[in-house]
Amino acid sequence: MGGGQRERIIIVGAGLTGALLACLLGEAGYDVVVYERRADPRKEGIVGGRSINLAISVRAIHALKLAGLDRKVLEDAIAMRGRMIHSPTGQLSFQPYSKNPNDAINSVSRGALNVTMLDAAQQYPNVTHHFDQRCVDVDIETPAVQLLNAQTNQTTWVQGDVVIGADGAFSAVRERMHLLDRFDYNQTYLAHGYKELCIPPTSDGEFAMDPNALHIWPRGGYMMIALPNKDRTFTCTLFWPFEGPHSFEAVRQEADVMPFFKAHFPDAVPLMPMLVEDFLSNPTSSLVTVRCGPWCYQDKVALIGDAAHAIVPFYGQGINAGFEDCVSLMECLKVCRGDWSKALATYFDRRKVHTDAIADLAISNFLEMRDHAASKLFRWKKKGERVVHRLLPQWYLPLYNMVSFSRIPYAQAVQKAKRQDRIVTAMLLMVLFILLVSLVWWIA
Ligand SMILES: Cc1cc2nc3c(=O)[nH]c(=O)nc-3n(C[C@H](O)[C@H](O)[C@H](O)COP(=O)(O)OP(=O)(O)OC[C@H]3O[C@@H](n4cnc5c(N)ncnc54)[C@H](O)[C@@H]3O)c2cc1C
Repeated sequence: MGGGQRERIIIVGAGLTGALLACLLGEAGYDVVVYERRADPRKEGIVGGRSINLAISVRAIHALKLAGLDRKVLEDAIAMRGRMIHSPTGQLSFQPYSKNPNDAINSVSRGALNVTMLDAAQQYPNVTHHFDQRCVDVDIETPAVQLLNAQTNQTTWVQGDVVIGADGAFSAVRERMHLLDRFDYNQTYLAHGYKELCIPPTSDGEFAMDPNALHIWPRGGYMMIALPNKDRTFTCTLFWPFEGPHSFEAVRQEADVMPFFKAHFPDAVPLMPMLVEDFLSNPTSSLVTVRCGPWCYQDKVALIGDAAHAIVPFYGQGINAGFEDCVSLMECLKVCRGDWSKALATYFDRRKVHTDAIADLAISNFLEMRDHAASKLFRWKKKGERVVHRLLPQWYLPLYNMVSFSRIPYAQAVQKAKRQDRIVTAMLLMVLFILLVSLVWWIA
């Protein structure tokens, strides 16, 4: 297959990545059929599963722009310009993300973003969606997917020219690819899980905290964060070990919840009237990193988004990376003139090294946010980075800025940051050496 524009593309999963890809392929003139296991969120309401809100930055915004959706999505976003650190005694300190006040990450509602993209994809007559259809098997050679209809409990096989698995971290399409010869797969869970809690608006309907910051309660070993929502609530996420002395396992009874929060997050407690109820009733979920490859099989099957590379959420880059996949796949199709076999292989070659890099960064940012964000040394380091960035803006870009406020590919950003750090360290050592020599000379 190659060169044609009317291939029938099956996308499994109408989550964020699948919905955006449907828009981009629809715009490019392909026939797209999307199968989603859940009900249509526009009819049945948004069904929870993952975080209620999420932060999008430059990479996701660029992808949304290609689908003509950036403005609409940003209209409903709340800009977060830095971290607001909450100390164990309730003191606040704000750490801007960048020297440039326009650099911000944007809190958006996951459900609203999904609905916006589903509506946009529906504008294309060549894109159709089918909800309540769970993919239960994939015939890789045909290729075809077997779907279980949640209403009728019947299964049917549907054939396409290409099947794209955009079905998330526990992808059914990827599961079938496991059976392929030389398919690599690695899955690692953090010892921590997460639970969502809520800070409602104040009695006069205002935000209970500064909405233009990502709030962090770093406690070494565990932490809580909060992102603002348009309805003036904050969604808090508690990242906590599953087992051990301070853990989900240790705090399970009603009587344990309040004392724990009063001791560790004292300033948050008065803002969380439903704390105990939310803590006891909201689910505890796990955090997984998935690496696999190749993400494609001939011109027939491919993986995209979390199905290809689920990462932990601590750099706020999961969907940014998933949307970048969509952009990359579309570029590869263009470069390879619609030859799916070449395009899919090129897409995998281009993206894999970068998604591996962001997976590593996401884990190291967890340790940084959890253990160091509150320390003076960390704050000095961040201030130092901003000073060097201000002095040498063409040459020095802090790693966080490269990841969140630029589209420099992730692995290149990591390499550039290492180079910069080596040079800055060498310069600091040289300055120290000159000072030392001057001191000795002066004493002599
Ligand atoms: C707590 C938390 C916070 C996060 N915060 C951020 C953040 O701030 N910024 C950010 O960029 N990323 C964040 N992420 C990551 C982000 O949520 C994911 O990267 C993103 O949701 C991946 O999108 P996706 O469409 O690839 O997969 P998913 O969102 O998982 O969507 C997959 C879709 O496929 C459907 N599906 C699954 N299996 C089947 C099947 N067998 N048949 C048919 N349909 C199926 C699902 O119902 C779903 O609709 C966070 C993740 C978590 C867990």
